[in-house]
Amino acid sequence: MNKIGFIGLGNMGFFMSKNLVENGFSVDGFDLSENALQKMKHTDVNISKTFEEVCKNKNFIITMLPNGNAVKSVWNDAIKFINNDTIMLDCSTIDINVAQDLHEFCKNKNIESIDAPVSGGTIGAENGTLTFIVGGSKKIYAKVKPLFDIMGQKSILCGEGGSGQATKLCNNLLLAITMSGLGESLKLANSFNLNLEKFFEVISTSTGSCWALNNYFPVKNIGPNSPADNEFKPGFSSKLMLKDLKLAKKGAEENNLKLNLNNYVIDKYEKIIENNKGEFDFSVIVKD
Ligand code: NAD
Repeated sequence: MNKIGFIGLGNMGFFMSKNLVENGFSVDGFDLSENALQKMKHTDVNISKTFEEVCKNKNFIITMLPNGNAVKSVWNDAIKFINNDTIMLDCSTIDINVAQDLHEFCKNKNIESIDAPVSGGTIGAENGTLTFIVGGSKKIYAKVKPLFDIMGQKSILCGEGGSGQATKLCNNLLLAITMSGLGESLKLANSFNLNLEKFFEVISTSTGSCWALNNYFPVKNIGPNSPADNEFKPGFSSKLMLKDLKLAKKGAEENNLKLNLNNYVIDKYEKIIENNKGEFDFSVIVKD
C-alpha cells in the first residue's frame, strides 16, 4: 500500500488527507496546531507523534502549508528522515523562486520533487474536485497522478519545476480582481434596489458570469453555499490571498512589469487586514 506523510492539516489539508485515506492510502498526518490535530481525530488519518514519524518510510510526503518559509523549513528537516525513493510534493501556494530552489535542493540529494499548488478552494478539497497546477518532470508527474486523481478532478503539468506556482499566481490575481469587480457590481445593484436573487439568476447566465459569482456568490442565502452564508468564515482567508497577490507583484517586478489592478486589490486586502479581518474569507472584499 502506498504510504503518505501529510504535513499541514489546516482548512485544505484536512480534506485532502481525509480523501486520500478514504480511498485506500495509508496516511500519517502532522501539524503544529493542536486545533488542527483535534479535528483530524474524527477521521482515519493517523496522527504522528513526532515530525520524524510522519516522514519515515513514506512513498510520498505532501506539504500543505501557509507560505514558502514554512515549506522551506519543513523540507529541510524532512530530508533527514525520508527514504531515497520518497517523492516530495508541495501543494501550498509559495514564491516561484522558493519552489525552484526546493527542486534544486532535492535534485542535489537525488530526491524526486514536484510543485502542485491547487485551485478550487475548501469546497474543491472537500469534494475531491481540486485542480492541480503542476511543475516538474513528466516522469514524476506520472508517479504522482494517482494522488491528484483522488484529491482532484484535473491535474495539468504546466512545465518544469516552479511553473505550477507561477500559473497558480496568475489564477489568484484574476480571482481577487473578479471578486473585487463583483463587489462593485453588487454596490451598483444595491443602489438601484435590485432583487439580488434576480441579479444572480441573470448574471450567472450572462456575459458577466465568472467563478466568483457562479460558485462563490458572496451574498447570504443566495446562490451556492459560500462563506457569505457562514459569516465569511474561510474558505480561503484574506490573509492568504494578500500573500499570493504580493507574490504575484514580486514576480511581476522581477520581469519589470507593473500590474495596476494587482496594486489596487493589494491595497484593499491590506485595509481588510488593518481592520482585523485577515482571518475572514477573501470574498469579504465585496463588503469593502
Ligand atoms: P491553513 O492556515 O488553514 O493551514 C495551514 C496549516 O499548516 C495550519 O494548520 C498550520 O498549523 C500548519 N503549519 C504551519 N507551519 C507548520 C509547520 N512548520 N509544520 C507543520 N504544520 C504547520 O491554510 P490553508 O487554507 O489550508 O492553505 C494552505 C495552503 O494552500 C496555502 O499556501 C494557501 O495559499 C493554499 N491554498 C488555500 C486555499 C483555500 O481555499 N484555503 C485554496 C488554494 C490554495
